[in-house]
Amino acid sequence: MEFGFELAVCGWAERHWPPGGNTDRAALVARQLGTKHRRWDTIVVECDPTGLAERAQFGDRHLDSDLLGVVRHAPAEWAWYRDALPEPEYPWRYVREAVTRAADRGLVDRRTRGGRVELRRRHPYPDWVERVVAVENKPDLSASAARDLARQLRQDVALGLADEVWVATRADQATAALLSDGPVEAGILAVDPDRRGTDAVDVVWRPRQLPADEPGTRILERPSTGGHGTSAWRFEYASPAWKENKRRQIAERAYERGWRAYVDSMRPDCRYFELQPEPAVSRPFCTAKNRGQSPRECAGSCPQFEPEPPTWRQGDWPIDGGPGGALTRLLDHQRARHRPEPPEES
Ligand code: SF4
Repeated sequence: MEFGFELAVCGWAERHWPPGGNTDRAALVARQLGTKHRRWDTIVVECDPTGLAERAQFGDRHLDSDLLGVVRHAPAEWAWYRDALPEPEYPWRYVREAVTRAADRGLVDRRTRGGRVELRRRHPYPDWVERVVAVENKPDLSASAARDLARQLRQDVALGLADEVWVATRADQATAALLSDGPVEAGILAVDPDRRGTDAVDVVWRPRQLPADEPGTRILERPSTGGHGTSAWRFEYASPAWKENKRRQIAERAYERGWRAYVDSMRPDCRYFELQPEPAVSRPFCTAKNRGQSPRECAGSCPQFEPEPPTWRQGDWPIDGGPGGALTRLLDHQRARHRPEPPEES
């Protein structure tokens, strides 16, 4: 099942990234992040450890593009925001609102002098992201799945938003992945989700470094033949500045969410929801269906949903909830463990 496989890949990457390399490097792992047009199953953000600790000074929540624009350029001394921040491509009032939002979250200091909004930084925003790596999880590679995958990977390579792209597939599908029509730039990982440790994943094909700091090409439409003719390719240019901005946003989202945020869109408050230990990683399990369930089916619309009985929620109820609340807190705690503490203030 693809969701369980995806969690196994995320859990493995969190402990053993990079494949076959020095696992002392700091890496954050997240799921289902990307752009408006493309989401990757697994994202690995390779981090500078000092920068990652300094990033913690800005709190656990992600900084969106507007907030990043403020904190990255906020000056060390008080200055009028229009003098301190780069000229935006939209009206200045939106920048002023972002400064207020940043101050409300304690990211910068803000004051009004003579009717002018001034700001001052609290901490320099660090360069904490070294590389962004995208992994597409395809446990089963039927002929049509391989075709779709090859098309997606070609688009990823043309855009070059990630530094590397990989396909993770089941060990017995690795040959099919090698023989598929995918680009040679994409790496291939053979995963045995029933094994633990570094040995659970083998590198079948090493990826090439993509030029993430150079212009890229977004493929919007590919030619389709048949019917009344052939349509044309449609491309869009992706500037290095756009890519840099997107990479930072993806890293920020990864920082906040990690890969365990799946529980936020499931129903751990259902009496049938469990986390079942598996060799690779604990996975959600539905005792009503007697199998692992996906976030899509484990939702409020699930016909078998039944709330936890109130007797399960005694003690801290209703503040902390029953076993479902405890599972959510456990996953939150595990997620937070991978974000280091900020350095001591001097
Ligand atoms: S019964 Fe439905 S809502 Fe409850 S755990 Fe199973 S899939 Fe989720």
